[in-house]
Formats: sequence, C-alpha cells, structure tokens
Amino acid sequence: MWAKSPRFERTKQIDPNVLSNSFTKLVANLPKRLISLYMYFRTRHISLNQHLHRIKRSITPNCPICADSEETIHHFLFVCPQYDRERFVLSRKLGRKASSLPFLLTDPSAMEHFLRYVNSTGRLKSSFGEVLLPPAPVKQ
Ligand SMILES: [Zn+2]
Repeated sequence: MWAKSPRFERTKQIDPNVLSNSFTKLVANLPKRLISLYMYFRTRHISLNQHLHRIKRSITPNCPICADSEETIHHFLFVCPQYDRERFVLSRKLGRKASSLPFLLTDPSAMEHFLRYVNSTGRLKSSFGEVLLPPAPVKQ
C-alpha cells in the first residue's frame, strides 16, 4: 500500500533508497525510535514547523528562532544560526559531506554524527527524546 501511495512517489524522488535493502540494513540495529526518526526525515514528515504547520499542529511554518525563514529540514540542518556550534562539530567530523542531506541520511559513517547533531540541538527532543546511538553491546 505504501508503495502505491503518493507519499511514496514523492519520497522516491527525494531518495530512491527509502525502502531499499540499504536503508533496511542501515537502520536494522537501531531502536524503533531512531528508525522512525530516519523515516520521518526521509519522508519529510519530521516534526519541524514547516511540516507541523502543514498538518495544522503549528500556527506558523517558520523557525522559532528565525522569524522569516520556514523551518524546513534544510533550514534545521544547514542554515539556522541557532545551531552553528552543533553544525561546526558535524562538519569537523564529516567535512564537506556534512552539508549533503542524502549523505547524512544514508551513509552508515554519518549516522553517529548525524544523530549527535540532532540530539545536541534539542529541537526534536519532545518528539523523539534522546536520539543518541545506544552503546555497542559488550562482547562476551
Ligand atoms: Zn532558524
């Protein structure tokens, strides 16, 4: 059903791998909460004001900090001055690729740093709580 929905069509244009094996593999060992986080980012249904406004959960589509910019995923990750420090940390870890949304959402090597960015902004805390990776299981 999902594959026939208009949302899937739209998602496919953004990222053809949205339901691919590579995505399944990427999130396979994550807690459910983090899998949803990735899904919502990929389908652009993440709880930032632009989306919340569209579903009538926010009176404004704009960023709570930047009154004249819509709070899109792009704004949240790459533009908003509120998160300059967190963004700096991210780009120290990932270099230029830190400003590529497909890279952040699909590359296993980006996962830890992407989640740390999201977590340290605190912006999605009310929807997802802490979004850090769980510690690796101790090998017996
Ligand atoms: Zn902003």
